[in-house]
Amino acid sequence: MSEPLLSVQGLEKHFPVTKGLLQRQVAAVKAVDGVSFEVRKGETLGLVGESGCGKTTTGRLITRLIEPTGGKIVFEGNDITHMSQGKMRPLRRDVQMIFQDPYSSLNPRHTVGAIVGAPFRIQGIKTEQGVKKAVQDILELVGLNPEHYNRYPHEFSGGQRQRIGIARTLALKPKLIIADEPVSALDVSIQAQVVNLLEDLQNELDLTYVVIAHDLSVVRHISDRVAVMYLGKLVELADRKSLYESPMHPYTNALLSAVPIPDPKRRVERERIRLQGDVPSPLNPPPACRFHTRCWKAQEICKTVEPPLQKLAPGHEVACHFPENAPAAAAEAAPAAV
Ligand code: SF4
Repeated sequence: MSEPLLSVQGLEKHFPVTKGLLQRQVAAVKAVDGVSFEVRKGETLGLVGESGCGKTTTGRLITRLIEPTGGKIVFEGNDITHMSQGKMRPLRRDVQMIFQDPYSSLNPRHTVGAIVGAPFRIQGIKTEQGVKKAVQDILELVGLNPEHYNRYPHEFSGGQRQRIGIARTLALKPKLIIADEPVSALDVSIQAQVVNLLEDLQNELDLTYVVIAHDLSVVRHISDRVAVMYLGKLVELADRKSLYESPMHPYTNALLSAVPIPDPKRRVERERIRLQGDVPSPLNPPPACRFHTRCWKAQEICKTVEPPLQKLAPGHEVACHFPENAPAAAAEAAPAAV
């Protein structure tokens, strides 16, 4: 097993809620609340959950676009949690982010050459002629015509614009890429092309990915392991096969039951789990197990004791008092109903 490239330990991001002229803090939105995981070199970790679960905030914390409230971020053995922006500059080359919306993430007034070449110019590491050659090489790598160097974003389709965004990300040969909903703004027919491109680039350039998505069908294809978040907490983390074939957390089960199945026979056999109610406000999350207000298996203990994230099978961790599909020994260890 390869060593971790990234280690996130007890990561927290609490956004203060202020009131009055003096902007007194009256509460905090706990967007990310004690999240821990590792990402190994060369692997893809899928980070999934409904809107507002904290997955995008986690991605932004890792890239240090926002400051964490607590916890630790270790990249290649270096603690970067509170590293100054000056010291972070060389590391910025190693950790890059692909944004969700290819329409708004590209400056419409800049040419493709200016957009993809910007990282080189900001870091001051190439001559103008060198930048042009490097940009054209990257455009070719992501399947775009190098001759389109002087074109503007509006001259491209949605899928091509996302390729431009990916090309910009690759400019400085990063080691880790955080891809935030990289295909959700694209037409379904284009999504597979972009996912395949990400896979090809990973093999060719030895990249490590954290792919953030609300859709489990997107991360199924690309991920080696999948982490599921709910209301700022990690509730399940497992190898892809284990998570999709034997999900243990009721929330993961509910998310998986909504994923479309192409086989009509299996589609009829499978029962769709419809979650009750909306995701509670992160301003005032339910105590103990945060999922208990929507969980059909909830018992008294779920409302009073927070279930820890614990390993119940090889490579499979879950935070639930009454996990599903758990091996017999683990099921016996589950707490008795109160
Ligand atoms: Fe449901 Fe209880 Fe498990 Fe939470 S701990 S997911 S409420 S069974």
